[in-house]
Amino acid sequence: MLKIGLTGGIASGKSTVCTLFEHYNKAPIIDADVIARHLAEPDKEAYAEIVHHFGGEVLQSDKTLNRKKLRQLIFSDPTAKQALENILHPKIRQQVILQSQQQQACYIILAIPLLIESKMYDLVDRILVIDIDPSLQLQRLQQRDNISAYQAQVMIDAQCSQQQRLAHADDIIDNNNDADALGKQIQLLHQKYIKISNGCQHSNSHGQ
Ligand code: ATP
Repeated sequence: MLKIGLTGGIASGKSTVCTLFEHYNKAPIIDADVIARHLAEPDKEAYAEIVHHFGGEVLQSDKTLNRKKLRQLIFSDPTAKQALENILHPKIRQQVILQSQQQQACYIILAIPLLIESKMYDLVDRILVIDIDPSLQLQRLQQRDNISAYQAQVMIDAQCSQQQRLAHADDIIDNNNDADALGKQIQLLHQKYIKISNGCQHSNSHGQ
């Protein structure tokens, strides 16, 4: 089974691409963001460590994590960002491995926003990077999160550069156009992945 690591900068279109892969091809998706959210729920592995490190100020009144506050904290303080990543990344890595082992398909998509930064590329066979012009990325991020250009730029700058991502890319999706253009590229990639997954029919674990 071919493991495709999908990555890209913030608001580059990872969720949109995953939805299209699922919609067109029923490709199984493992999403590191979903895993991270799950791990940080009360009583889950990472929760106690996060609260221990950051204190009660990152909790809401119902004791769930105040994600907005935590996000602000890590984007304004590189040490806090590193501490959160030290807690989460090994656990995310473990879960990604576990969930990958449970899949049966020609290929699966592992959506890992920090694939390059966390060096999780050893978990995948190919790296698929979403490319987007910096100005369009800024605009989509601002619109989606209803934030200022300054706030959006701080979030973009906290990640690795697009050049660093592209240097690791086996395949690239251009997300500078509309959803139709995106869909066409995903169909082509689907054909390619079926072909190189070696001997797999035009089907997957869902039998479609
Ligand atoms: P994050 O890094 O925060 O997880 P992401 O990489 O998953 O974000 P999306 O949420 O998929 O990015 O996309 C960011 C925004 O851009 C969304 O509002 C989405 O609807 C929009 N978008 C993505 N691709 C396109 C496109 N081809 N045309 C127009 N809008 C798009």
